[in-house]
Amino acid sequence: MANDHVLTAEEVITSASSYMTKDDIRFIERAYQLAKDAHKEQFRKSGEPYIVHPTQVAGILVDLNMDPATVAAGFLHDVVEDTNIDLESLGKNFNEEVAMLVDGVTKLGKIKFKSIEEQQAENHRKMFVAMAKDIRVILIKLADRLHNMRTLKHLPPEKQRRISNETLEIFAPLAHRLGINRIKWELEDTALRYLNPQHYYRIVNLMKKKRNEREEYLNSVMKDIREKLDELNIECNISGRPKHIYSIYRKMTVQSKEFNEIYDLMAVRVLVDSIKDCYAVLGIIHTHWKPMPGRFKDYIAMPKANMYQSLHTTVIGNTGETLEVQIRTSDMHEIAEFGIAAHWAYKEGKKVEDVSAHLSWTNQILEWQKESYDTEDFLESLKIDLFSDTVFIFSPKGDVYELPRGSVPIDFAYRVHSEIGNKTIGSKINGKLVPLDYTLKTGDIIEIMTSKHSYGPSQDWLKIAQTSQAKNKIRQFFKKQNREQNVEKGRELIEKEVRALGIDLKEAFSQENLKRALERFHIPTTEDMYAAVGYGGLTPIQVTTRLTEKIRKQQKEQEALSNISKASETKSQSKRKKDAGVKVEGIDTMLVRLSKCCTPVPGDEIVGFITRGRGVSVHRLDCPNVQNEDSNERILNVEWNNEANESREYNVDIEISAFDRQGVLNEVLHAVSETKTNITAVSGRTDKSKLATINMTISISNLQHLKRVVDRIKQIRDITAVRRIMQ
Ligand code: MN
Repeated sequence: MANDHVLTAEEVITSASSYMTKDDIRFIERAYQLAKDAHKEQFRKSGEPYIVHPTQVAGILVDLNMDPATVAAGFLHDVVEDTNIDLESLGKNFNEEVAMLVDGVTKLGKIKFKSIEEQQAENHRKMFVAMAKDIRVILIKLADRLHNMRTLKHLPPEKQRRISNETLEIFAPLAHRLGINRIKWELEDTALRYLNPQHYYRIVNLMKKKRNEREEYLNSVMKDIREKLDELNIECNISGRPKHIYSIYRKMTVQSKEFNEIYDLMAVRVLVDSIKDCYAVLGIIHTHWKPMPGRFKDYIAMPKANMYQSLHTTVIGNTGETLEVQIRTSDMHEIAEFGIAAHWAYKEGKKVEDVSAHLSWTNQILEWQKESYDTEDFLESLKIDLFSDTVFIFSPKGDVYELPRGSVPIDFAYRVHSEIGNKTIGSKINGKLVPLDYTLKTGDIIEIMTSKHSYGPSQDWLKIAQTSQAKNKIRQFFKKQNREQNVEKGRELIEKEVRALGIDLKEAFSQENLKRALERFHIPTTEDMYAAVGYGGLTPIQVTTRLTEKIRKQQKEQEALSNISKASETKSQSKRKKDAGVKVEGIDTMLVRLSKCCTPVPGDEIVGFITRGRGVSVHRLDCPNVQNEDSNERILNVEWNNEANESREYNVDIEISAFDRQGVLNEVLHAVSETKTNITAVSGRTDKSKLATINMTISISNLQHLKRVVDRIKQIRDITAVRRIMQ
């Protein structure tokens, strides 16, 4: 591939005519004319007319002997993105197959890459392939990238670096996977020149220095080999080739070798007609030169994953110089240079149907490859089945995630983090709201909406989620939640018993009393004890009896001793302000008011702050209005007065998300009334994506009550999220 000569369209078409029919040639000429008209008056950064670029891309594709549709698409690959020709008219007025290829190239062009760690790079490459659908789209994209790399000098330095990084991370590995080594090497060398010019030119100079003596030596070796092979009547084609700069760079950096420690700076390549001849040549070479131990590799018997086949050996020459020799057939050489493109190559108006080649590409294909197949099947399945069990999606930040096909936003949310999963209230795809059972597609940009006030997953999610990871995490949540519920319930029941005895809670729940109760029941922690009462393993009376044992005994003794001074006692606690059910620290004559913005209820963590002329306003600790308040002086410590608000009810706003279906609102209303809860307001709305939102104000007595209502709502089918909202 000549990379300094700028091809004219005539030159491209002339070389295409070496393998295309006259009709094919007329077809690609029409593509060129169309592209030229569309891009007229457009110029590249280099100042050249824009058409020069698609012409070079088509030229690279002709070098790969690609079929007429691919070459035509090479000429036209930028028209949809950059001119006013749209996809539909290209399909109708020119050719559907070409339009499909151009569409693929345009879509790939929209993927934004960023510099990324290896795992992400791998996902990007896979997604690239999955999105391409047709492997020829990738070949066009590689040709496009190759020409852009060749003309990179016209761009500003930071763009050069970004594009070069992307080339090394995405495009060169793709070319390698596809076995298109010619493109791979040039991409790598060019990228290195921009990313690490010092190192690049150092290697170039080191290679130059030794070039003359090496070439002389190489020529004499090649002459020797030719003579030996002539004696045996083996037809061959012998050439010497310099090593690619990037692979020397890698050896110097990754294996930290010095330049002169690298054996294969120069290699001799012997091309023969048959596999039998390959081994014959190897025998001759090993007879005349001493092979270096451990350097012989048989990639004919064991082809590389990208279908490369060759024999490699390194020998020590007469002067002690090392020399790498590669031996392969011409067919193998074609695959070594062109890889998968060799199988798309087009000869005399027909696609080549080479069945024998050992094709393999990615691990997925390696699996599938064990079965028998032919090239057509291989390419067909590459188009249809490649990664078909996987979708690749983007986070808003541009990270790529690989999920099983059929996954929904919940699967993604739990893949990111279980806390994100548990707090999910909705999802957006490409900026639009979608239901949580939306099936993710490759290329989707997904955004998960969370709320810290979400009450966690609903039972329905177990049916919607596809991945076992998400399902397990949802189950874990329910398991843990049940325990929390039991702990809460158990503690309440015990407290009720203690109060019934007229004993102070603090006194009853002292460390000493708790310890004695735990020992008595052989239970490790207090929480476990509450939980046991919650699920009915212990009765609250059993626990209360143990907790209050000592207190009751003392009480009796005291009673007996002091019947005298009873009358003088007054309760000092009664001075507290009680109307909102809230105690204010240090103040007992203040007007206390529960804020409307966050509607706190007993059980919530709360703070109060003094408002001008309106007393103490009580907010939830997590209310944004409190957090925005900058003067700390005005904040007061407040706490719920548990005795005072036993019978009081508080308004709470909740928002329920559901899939819109007949009767869902009715079921919600029914469920709430089942919990003996008053509804003071309700409204509902539906959006285009079949997502329903129900807003409701309910009267509840405390946090446990609220939780009971929410849990009941979450059991309804098609409810996706319930959360408490602030105005
Ligand atoms: Mn382009």
